[in-house]
Amino acid sequence: NNFMPNVKEIIDLMGGRVNKKEEELINKAYEFAKKTHEGQKRLSGEPYFTHAFETAKILTHMNMDTQTIVAGFLHDVLEDTKTSKEQLKREFGSAVASIVEGVTKKIALKTTPEDRAENIRKVLLATIKDIRVILLKLADRLHNMRTLKFLPQEQQREIARETLEVYVPVAYKLGMYRVKSELEDLCLRFLEPGIYQELKARISMKKEEREREVKKVVAAVKRLIEDNNIPAAVAGRAKNFYGIYKKMLAKKIPFEDVRDLSAIRVITTSTENCYKALNAIHSKWTPILNRFDDYIANPKPNMYQSLHTEVLFEGKPVE
Ligand code: MN
Repeated sequence: NNFMPNVKEIIDLMGGRVNKKEEELINKAYEFAKKTHEGQKRLSGEPYFTHAFETAKILTHMNMDTQTIVAGFLHDVLEDTKTSKEQLKREFGSAVASIVEGVTKKIALKTTPEDRAENIRKVLLATIKDIRVILLKLADRLHNMRTLKFLPQEQQREIARETLEVYVPVAYKLGMYRVKSELEDLCLRFLEPGIYQELKARISMKKEEREREVKKVVAAVKRLIEDNNIPAAVAGRAKNFYGIYKKMLAKKIPFEDVRDLSAIRVITTSTENCYKALNAIHSKWTPILNRFDDYIANPKPNMYQSLHTEVLFEGKPVE
């Protein structure tokens, strides 16, 4: 339980995109957070520092810049240690200090709805000055959601609800699919534990089958797109639990009737090539009626643009 993660893991994850000076700064932040949080524990029993480390690691996976990763290590030192903002500024520069200040809660101990709203407002206002504040807040929340089972049940539900109502839509609007998708599944686990466990049991049984299916469709779509000389990357994913749950709710159907458990994505080079790819796919596989959306002609409010369709692939719907 007292295992201390190594900073080398972060440096390795950053690969070639970090120079000597940046590496030193990351090292310094790692040591600073380890020292100032010393003796503090999470409810899981782990050293508090593991939370700072995991937050920095999530930001590294998001391909964030050095200052944000440094702020990730330090994000709780103003709230939970004797460190002052001036000290942070001196040691790590004013950008890092204001990012950390931006995620520091105004009201740390109480959790009335008013306090929570006030804390969110503070994060949003700081985000106007520096977008990296909200990205750090998302990484912080993701790790807190991953370790939510150690909190009292009442708090689990409050935090999960806030996550679903505030942070999931923000992650979505920022185009951070992976973060959004993991947050959604974690929210479902704490807000609808019965449904979550049922989906988990049913879907894990089918997981290998689903992965094989996705690979097969990706290969077929890739061949078709290549045959039509359309420059494109083709990727597939199995839908997350929350996506399946939403579909069951929206269509009022049981799990057995959710058939399109996978989705394929074709990314190409121009609007014209998007329609060419769609044309090729619809010519080869039968599109399902009323399952087509043209978000190129009608962009979503966040300016998201793409074409959505469902077709029958060997008798099964694929999105
Ligand atoms: Mn935190």
